[in-house]
Amino acid sequence: MPDVYSIALTTRFRGIAVREGLLLEGAAGWGEFCPFTEYDDAVSEPWLAAALEAAEQGWPEPVRDRVPVNCIVPAVDPERAKRLTVESGCSTAKVKVADEPGSLPADVERVAAVRDALGPRGAVRVDANGAWDVEQAVTAIRALDAAAGGLQYVEQPCASLEEMAAVRKRVNVLIAADESIRRAEDPMRVAVAGAADIAVLKCAPLGGVRRALAVAEACGLPCVVSSALQTSVGLAGELALAGALPELPYACGLGTGALLSADVVELPLVPTVGWLPVPRRAPEPLLRGEVAADAERTRWWLDRLDRVRARL
Ligand SMILES: [Mg+2]
Repeated sequence: MPDVYSIALTTRFRGIAVREGLLLEGAAGWGEFCPFTEYDDAVSEPWLAAALEAAEQGWPEPVRDRVPVNCIVPAVDPERAKRLTVESGCSTAKVKVADEPGSLPADVERVAAVRDALGPRGAVRVDANGAWDVEQAVTAIRALDAAAGGLQYVEQPCASLEEMAAVRKRVNVLIAADESIRRAEDPMRVAVAGAADIAVLKCAPLGGVRRALAVAEACGLPCVVSSALQTSVGLAGELALAGALPELPYACGLGTGALLSADVVELPLVPTVGWLPVPRRAPEPLLRGEVAADAERTRWWLDRLDRVRARL
């Protein structure tokens, strides 16, 4: 029977304090099924496809054996931002901005502190998670680019591709599409070309490594792989994607293991001085009992699994 886990986050992230999911085993090893709890069954389908790919089929051969990762700087004060950056050992930092209306002055200070911590050779990118309108984005991107002494790129400045295309014409900073791809009706057909320079991919919401590789090819942009806040079992799939992409010009957002207060494996996939290995299969989840969800949540997840499996 699959195991359901419930793990507290070390800091609240995207409005949640606890991460839940389910681990299942097949002929090829382990997979993780962990669509966020508010997602409906239709949205959860590709998440199950990704878990089943890992468990039953395994992943394509990688073309590299390790990937660089960025450190994550949440909406914290400049001192904390600086410390997180230095302690990570990473040479690329992703800074959360536009966390609340009117946050630009604080965002500028945070970005400047991160640049200070990285030195001139590091890379600073920001993620607005679609919070700005076009005018706000243009103003904010110019200010943040100046504070950073050059931004590597800005992720999802606005919610829609039309707005992103308008922003892209008016700023001299590369634009990355994240939510626009993974929430698209059909990720294979989303026309990101005029609206973004870079695609952010996650294999869990895209239906697995093979499917995400097809999306990468279809969109024709350089890609960055990012996690969906999984345990090391699911993270291994994201690393398999990063390992199999023909080109990987930027650091990936896969250093999220430290956001979970516990993991299901003995040697969690957390970065060493900014790098993570590309595993050939998911690590064995030996610590499942220690993070087991209670009976009610276990029932909820097993019901969800049955419903979503019936749709595939
Ligand atoms: Mg993002």
